[in-house]
Amino acid sequence: MKQRLDALRGRVTAAGCDGFVSVHPPANQYLSGFMTSLDHISSVIVVTPDEAHFLCDSRYTEQAQHQVKDLQITQITGDQMQRGGELLKKLNLKRVAFDPNGHTVAEHSRLEAAFGAELVPKDSLVSDLRIRKETAESDAVRAASQLAEGVLRDVLPELREGIAERDVAAKIEYEFKRRGASGTSFNSIVLFGANSSLPHGVPGERKLELGDIVLIDMGCRRDGYCSDLTRTFVFSSIPGPWFEEIYALTRRAQQAALDAIRPGVTGREVDAAARGIIAGGGHGDRFGHGLGHGVGIEIHEEPRLNMRSDTVLEAGMVVTVEPGIYLPDRGGVRIEDLVLVTETGCEVFTKTPKELKVL
Ligand code: ZN
Ligand code: ZN
Repeated sequence: MKQRLDALRGRVTAAGCDGFVSVHPPANQYLSGFMTSLDHISSVIVVTPDEAHFLCDSRYTEQAQHQVKDLQITQITGDQMQRGGELLKKLNLKRVAFDPNGHTVAEHSRLEAAFGAELVPKDSLVSDLRIRKETAESDAVRAASQLAEGVLRDVLPELREGIAERDVAAKIEYEFKRRGASGTSFNSIVLFGANSSLPHGVPGERKLELGDIVLIDMGCRRDGYCSDLTRTFVFSSIPGPWFEEIYALTRRAQQAALDAIRPGVTGREVDAAARGIIAGGGHGDRFGHGLGHGVGIEIHEEPRLNMRSDTVLEAGMVVTVEPGIYLPDRGGVRIEDLVLVTETGCEVFTKTPKELKVL
C-alpha cells in the first residue's frame, strides 16, 4: 500500500493540493486493502504528504485491523462525512483533492461544512493509478475469470427445455458463491430467443425452447476483483442462416479487435477494428455499445474501448473485448473475452471456446 499511497501523494502535490480525501469504496480498497461491498460508504481515507488515515465505525474496525496496511486506523462514531471533514480541519489542510464520483451532493455538503476550507474535485487521481494492474491484481482478475468459466462449463449441461432464464441465472450465482466468489460482479444476464437482442436484458420467466438463442453474460467478484464473460449459444438447433451470419461476423470482429490490442494503440483504434468488420457486414447500426471496458476492483473502469477513447493502451491494463449484433425481435449475439495487455499484444484470460455451439 505504501507505494500506492506515495504515487497518490505525488499526484496530489502536482494538482496543487496539500491533502486528499476519499469515501469511494473502490478507491479505498485500492489505497488500503480494505475489502467490502462497493455499493455503500464504509470508510473515509485522508492522505497528506506525511500521514495516511483510515476512518471507520465499529462495524468495520476489526476487519480493518486485519486488512488495512500502512494507514492509521481510527474508529469513529456518527456521520462519516462530518468526521472526515473534522479530521481535515484538525490536520490544518487548506486545499484538499477529492474524487467527485465517490459521494453524493448531500454527503459532500456535510464534508465541506465540517472542513470549512477548499475541496477540489479531481476525478482521475486514483483511477489513473488503477488503470495499470500490478501482477497481483491481474492474477486476481484471471483467477476470478477462471472461477466463472468453471461455473459456465458446469451449468450449461443443466439447460433443459422449459427451464426459465432466471433459474439459470440463479444456478450461476449459487455456484459462484459455492466456489469461493464473494458474489457477482454485476447482475447476471441470461436471455433466451428474441430476448437476446436486448444488450442488457434482465433474466425473467421466459422458458427455454428448441431452436432458441442462449446469451449468457456473467461475472463474479473474488478476492476483491471482478471477472466478465459472455458467450452466445443455440439450444438444440440453429435458428436460421441469419443467425449463423451474425454469429460469424461478431466472431470475426472480436478476433480482429484481439489482434489489434498491443501497447501504443488507442481505445478508439481497437474499437474501430471490430466496428469496421461489423459495418462491412451490413450491421453497423446494430452494434450500439462500446467494444469494451477495463475490469479490476470495479466491473466497469478505465480504460474504455469505444469510439471516443483516446486512452493509449499500456502493458498491465485489463480490458474486455465484447462486440455484439442485436436484431430487434429476432435475437442477438455477443462474444466477450477478458484480456491482459502485454508487452507484445495480449493474454486472453477467457478460454471457453467460441465456435458456435449447439447445446
Ligand atoms: Zn459482460
Ligand atoms: Zn463487459
